[in-house]
Amino acid sequence: MNRPANLDVLLRPRPPSPVREVRDERFGRHGVRLLLKRDDLVHPELPGNKWRKLAPNLRAAVEGGFPALVTFGGAYSNHLRATAAAGRMLGLPTVGVVRGDELAGRPLNESLARCAADGMRLHFVPRSAYRRKAEPQALARLLTEAGASDAYVVPEGGSNALALHGCAELGRELRGRADVVAVACGTGGTLAGLAAGLAPGQRALGVPVLKGGFLAAEIRSLQLAAFGGPAGDWSLAEGFDHGGYARVPAPLEAFAADFAARHGLPVERIYVAKLLWALTELTKSGAFPRGTTLTAVITGRQ
Ligand SMILES: *Cc1c(COP(=O)(O)O)cnc(C)c1O
Repeated sequence: MNRPANLDVLLRPRPPSPVREVRDERFGRHGVRLLLKRDDLVHPELPGNKWRKLAPNLRAAVEGGFPALVTFGGAYSNHLRATAAAGRMLGLPTVGVVRGDELAGRPLNESLARCAADGMRLHFVPRSAYRRKAEPQALARLLTEAGASDAYVVPEGGSNALALHGCAELGRELRGRADVVAVACGTGGTLAGLAAGLAPGQRALGVPVLKGGFLAAEIRSLQLAAFGGPAGDWSLAEGFDHGGYARVPAPLEAFAADFAARHGLPVERIYVAKLLWALTELTKSGAFPRGTTLTAVITGRQ
């Protein structure tokens, strides 16, 4: 196996992802300039923040001589898909621990079928055991059962200290390009890293797509692990989850389809649609002073 050469091909530093301005009256009439940071174009197979977060972990797994990489996710996880694709490109075996043992033995959905086609070994576990993976002993048991006890472990959603350093690079690419940089949040790892990479005077704004109120504490602990303490100026805009993860009510669907048609952007529905909706609403309510340059990070594609 020719791992080092493959690693270079996959992890070769890329030029910064493009930034483009869009003309949209819903922003223009409030004196707000809207830019899109097309991070969905950062890597041909691993779009957006999945690439930012995985790349440093892949490097650590290969350089550390680990025989495989193991990670966790639900049946529709973009993170599992990206990890499986990366493993195929690198020749690094991957194991996906999937939430829900009722899925075992049933036909795979499209997302998991892609994981399997990329060579990921799928291990289905009961929801109760999946939930307990934050406890070290429960995790060890889970990994043994999955035949992955000596594998490199990437947490669910991919957000660990190395991932935050990868996302800080996204922030550095945006220095001098925005007053406010906005991003959709799942685990919050992308926001946590992005904020750390911005210049003083720039601020990061996160739009959570899940219900719940623990995200700010989660982001603080991720930053503590990665940077030793708080980093950058960030805040969360709550109230734009539209009912919870992966919920796309009709008004949001219509908004996303319209935005895609107006601006020729493939609007990813689970995260990016909620971000763009939130920015439109916040702008309408006067949340950004006239003259603000607002940059929306397009973290993935439809
Ligand atoms: C995974 C994902 C996110 C969430 O990133 P976090 O670092 O978990 O907050 C945002 N956008 C897209 C398109 C994603 O796939």
